Amino acid sequence: MQQELKTLDCITPADALPLRATVKEIVSLNPSTLEELGRVPIFTAEQVQQALTKARAAQPAWAALSFRQRGEFILRAKTLLLERQDELCDLMAKETGKPVVESLSSEVLPVANLMDYFVRKSAKLLRGDQFTLSVFRNKKSRIHYFPLGVVGIISPWNYPFSIPMGEVIMGLMAGNAVLLKPSEYTPLVGLWMGELFRAAGLPDGILQVLSGDGTTGAALVDSAIDKIFFTGSGRTGRKIAETAARRFMPFVLELGGKDAMIVCADAPFERTVNGALWGGFSNCGQACASVERLYVVESIAERFINALVEKTKLLRVGIDGEQQKDIGPLNNARQLEIVTDQVNDAVARGAKVLTGGRRMANLRGYFYEPTVLVDVNNSMRVMQEETFGPVLPIVVVKDEAEAIREANRSNYGLLASVWTKDTNRGKQIAAQIEAGTIIINDVLYTHGAAETPWFGVKESGMGVTHSKHGLLEFVRMKHINWDVMPMKTNLWWYPYSAKRRRDFKLLLKILHKWGLKKWI
Ligand code: NAD
Repeated sequence: MQQELKTLDCITPADALPLRATVKEIVSLNPSTLEELGRVPIFTAEQVQQALTKARAAQPAWAALSFRQRGEFILRAKTLLLERQDELCDLMAKETGKPVVESLSSEVLPVANLMDYFVRKSAKLLRGDQFTLSVFRNKKSRIHYFPLGVVGIISPWNYPFSIPMGEVIMGLMAGNAVLLKPSEYTPLVGLWMGELFRAAGLPDGILQVLSGDGTTGAALVDSAIDKIFFTGSGRTGRKIAETAARRFMPFVLELGGKDAMIVCADAPFERTVNGALWGGFSNCGQACASVERLYVVESIAERFINALVEKTKLLRVGIDGEQQKDIGPLNNARQLEIVTDQVNDAVARGAKVLTGGRRMANLRGYFYEPTVLVDVNNSMRVMQEETFGPVLPIVVVKDEAEAIREANRSNYGLLASVWTKDTNRGKQIAAQIEAGTIIINDVLYTHGAAETPWFGVKESGMGVTHSKHGLLEFVRMKHINWDVMPMKTNLWWYPYSAKRRRDFKLLLKILHKWGLKKWI
């Protein structure tokens, strides 16, 4: 097994899938110490199928419950989450390496908020609506929303609790059964989620956690589930889209980012420095919406960069303990390799390291120094590819127009941020940036706000999570239409005649030439 442990941990992206497919268990590692935390089974395609059969059988009774009844299970899970928060934070510190403060602020708190929000709002958001048609005044329509059935959720390791839980909560509140495939790098947190809902009394089969690697995920996508919700890399997202297209299965993809931070000449100075620091380095830079490219206008660049470098040097890296550290390790060997390669490539092409730039050899785990780079350009991998590590490349631009142009020169479009004291100007700049969300004077945090939509454009994804828009991804729409005053025939039915032709011409005139449409 130690051999297998080594295999899992030292794989390179290119050979990852074939090697992983040969192991039957996942060994969960502590990235700070490289010690084994536990082992979980890899679900086979046959076991995925069995889970689906069980979910299908259980789902109709779940869908028949009222929103209030379904909400009671979620609220019980919330009570348990609050009671067991320390246990969860401790597990996440061990399995992801993230500081406990971050587990509380970006995993526990957002999930408790999501639970509250969707328990309170789902009935209203999914009530559907009824209306009279504008031209056909004798007709009415009603939109109904129904659960999809059994949905699959495949999640990454960087926020192993809050990312899948948002979708689990929305999926359950909408009346679906859920099959959850957590990341192979955080399987114990995945199983903890299943246990939380079991303890909350959720009926058997309604939420099943399928531990496993890419083979388990691929089997889930290739099963007869009703929709797949995937968060992860573009490389895997593309494979999922191909399978889903073959099966005519709907999907949501939440993929990578290369988020730009635009620092205007009138940026609120201290806040902007602190924002860049947190946006670039929180979760060790392993957020899809981390600041990965920073554009600062030249009039304040020198002062800004100096202040940022000084604060970066003060960040405490290490294992979380009684004395809280600011930055933990990268989560796995593959991530360490990507970060190391990108920084080396940038330096070889002329980038200058102002601080950091190396693995921390004095620590056993995957620790990398928080790094600030300048003199970077678009020929470098660090400016083109997602880094997902504690690396902040800074570009000095002439003005905001150049910053916007550069920010848009990317295949990604998840989040961006604009920093200015003039909110209206910030909004004007935001309107020109190609990204799903643009935040003025803040970074990253809206994933933690239940009511705001989270989605990417370009290669950052398709579909939405969170907010009422995300909830609507978990239902099937049905439109029912009827007559208020049934007549013997419709104007557009048979028989056609010269009179019908005149009638239609008159109708077109009334509606679109004489301007009477506004009275209808
Ligand atoms: P990944 O694509 O390697 O893995 C994600 C999940 O997909 C894992 O559970 C994995 O087991 C599974 N998987 C792997 N191969 C599969 C296959 N062929 N079929 C089905 N499932 C398969 O990504 P990762 O390294 O875990 O996560 C990091 C990536 O996730 C980054 O690119 C990051 O930006 C992105 N991410 C995006 C968001 C967002 O909201 N847009 C949030 C967090 C992370």
